[in-house]
Amino acid sequence: MAIDIATLTLRAARDAMRRKDFSSAELVQAVLDAIAARDSAIGAYLTVDAEGALAAARAADERRAAGASDDLLGIPLAIKDIFNVAGQPCTCASRILEGYVAPYDATVIARIKTAGAVPTGRVNMDEFAMGTSTEHSAFQKTRNPVALDRVPGGSSGGSAAAVAGGMALASLATDTGGSIRQPASFCGCVGLKPSYGRVSRYGVTAFASSLDQVGPIAKTVEDAAILLQAISGRDPHDQTTLDAPVPDYAASLEGASLKGLRIGVPKEYFVEGTDPEVMALVRAAIDRCEKAGAAVREISLPHTEYAIAVYYICATAEASANLARFDGVRYGRRRGDAAGGLQAMYDRTRTDGFGKEVKRRIILGTYVLSSGYYDAYYNRALKARTLIRRDFETAFADCDVLMTPVAPTPAYLLNSTVNDPLKSYLGDIFTVSTNLAGICGMSIPCGRTAGGLPVGLQILGPAFGEVAMLRAAAACERELIK
Ligand code: GLN
Repeated sequence: MAIDIATLTLRAARDAMRRKDFSSAELVQAVLDAIAARDSAIGAYLTVDAEGALAAARAADERRAAGASDDLLGIPLAIKDIFNVAGQPCTCASRILEGYVAPYDATVIARIKTAGAVPTGRVNMDEFAMGTSTEHSAFQKTRNPVALDRVPGGSSGGSAAAVAGGMALASLATDTGGSIRQPASFCGCVGLKPSYGRVSRYGVTAFASSLDQVGPIAKTVEDAAILLQAISGRDPHDQTTLDAPVPDYAASLEGASLKGLRIGVPKEYFVEGTDPEVMALVRAAIDRCEKAGAAVREISLPHTEYAIAVYYICATAEASANLARFDGVRYGRRRGDAAGGLQAMYDRTRTDGFGKEVKRRIILGTYVLSSGYYDAYYNRALKARTLIRRDFETAFADCDVLMTPVAPTPAYLLNSTVNDPLKSYLGDIFTVSTNLAGICGMSIPCGRTAGGLPVGLQILGPAFGEVAMLRAAAACERELIK
């Protein structure tokens, strides 16, 4: 049977394998064939592990023959190049980690492997997840499969492009300030950032530890729920993970309805500066939810105006500390030798190894943490971060979910922001507050511009309110497809 990766969902693949329509080995081969046929034009994958994937697929087929039937059994997944997968490279799209091979599995990788999933390869990203276009990868540019002259978004651009380009059923990605939701929006996928503490970060290269979260990029809300299910829960290796039972996310979608759903629409997210087509599509989606029985209300998140500044202080401060470990001694590629002196070796290694954007963040972060500026920048940012979190607590006191745009624009042309950091930072305006507040958020497709570019609707839920958010998203997805 011919397998069309471009339209195949996790659920359909699972059901087809249960019916023995095809085996995991055949499915993985179809993914490898699709990559071979399409990726030279798109550039989503950095490396493909054909041999390892086929071996894992055969093992999954054996498990199935022995009676196993897990949701992810034999399902191929594309992995963002930020996760440690034992025996595979993990470069974070950075030259400084060239040649590094992961010695162990990140907890999320161990979990999906236990469930029988098959990592197919490593997909591209902005270096160390810093960016919004995947143009800051040290290795290659990734093109948006919907419009090849445009970016796929970032930092998880390879993940979204692999899914939208018909080269993956779904992908594991990370979101520190929008890196799952924004590329999902740009490529027409579903992307889900879980609440902080829902998913383990162990074995995921840290960018900003108080903001990073792992989540899926998939084709449907249900697929996102299936993947979230597999990766969620307490991990003794990550003390920030919540020690509470994980709800059955996929089962919770049953009977999802917009009737009576209380939707808050924050007025600060509908201001001038957003592309009019994006605005119109998001408004139209919210109107349809209202017509289907939701109670839509304008609300206020009054500290939104500080979000970008607060994010770029907190994220860079944490990044400057996290990236100190890449010094040529412990990880990756070393430049210089003992004869030249230790400091010179550090300098050469970091000067040659890090790209421009990463250096900019390290310098900014070091500055905001330096004595004399710490109080003026970092401490004030932390206080403003509390206010942003409280805005959401107030809003969720009488709203089930919030709906907003994901990004102020659809996918833009390649090379149009790469040398303009401020412009690219401003593109994060609608996504960073979610991470600052630790709440959950997702992007679902809500239509296309006249030029055919996908636009995402952002649905936000309270901390650990994934069930409410997923139910709203599933009902909304159904309504928008009608
Ligand atoms: N675009 C944001 C940044 O550049 C967010 C990136 C992310 O979520 N990893 O920092």
